[in-house]
Amino acid sequence: MPASAREGSKHMGKRTLPLTDTLYDYMLSVSLRDSPVERELRAETDQLELSAMQISADQAQFMALLVKLIHAERALEIGTFTGYSTLAIAQALPPEGQVIACDISDEWTAIARRFWKRAGVSKKIDLRLAPALVTLTDLLDERQAESFDFAFIDADKQNQWGYFELCLQLIRPGGLIAIDNVLWSGSVADRRNHKDTTVAIREFNERIHRDERVDISLVPIGDGLTLARKKVRKEK
Ligand code: CA
Repeated sequence: MPASAREGSKHMGKRTLPLTDTLYDYMLSVSLRDSPVERELRAETDQLELSAMQISADQAQFMALLVKLIHAERALEIGTFTGYSTLAIAQALPPEGQVIACDISDEWTAIARRFWKRAGVSKKIDLRLAPALVTLTDLLDERQAESFDFAFIDADKQNQWGYFELCLQLIRPGGLIAIDNVLWSGSVADRRNHKDTTVAIREFNERIHRDERVDISLVPIGDGLTLARKKVRKEK
């Protein structure tokens, strides 16, 4: 057997299926439940040059499910862009829930604000236009450590570890942090790729793999999503 065939067979039946367009469309056709507002926000964002920064519809639905499963009431979002993931999180929170959304772009978040209003979730979203490292540090200074249930990190990758460390202090034991783009289109597995962002994400992945403060799972949804649950103190 040629080496390439052996490589293929070693994972057969266990590895996540390669998603052809046909299979991905089928998957969405039997699972996706989204509202007209969500569809319109995706369509409007798709017109933008940076539209790839928007998470996929199936990922948004998956994260909304996680938010509900852990009974989250307070959430953090690092990197809001046009507000699609924020919308998904906000809709999954109870009526009194709140998500603090961090971004630095007035332009992109203006689109976000318009759609949040249409979806009726504006009062659940506290948009902070400032570098997220500053916003998160301010929250800690305001004694809000361990007061959040869920965090989604999807911003500049050079600061990914910094965001993670601050979010880890801000969420409660048993809370969940989701970190996006951890597979970076597969480039992280190419050792010849030394681009700054690829190296930063690769280092992040290696570091969180060793981090015993969290339980982790790397889910191959979208561009790769690592889930990190903050351990309760007595847990090994
Ligand atoms: Ca992303």
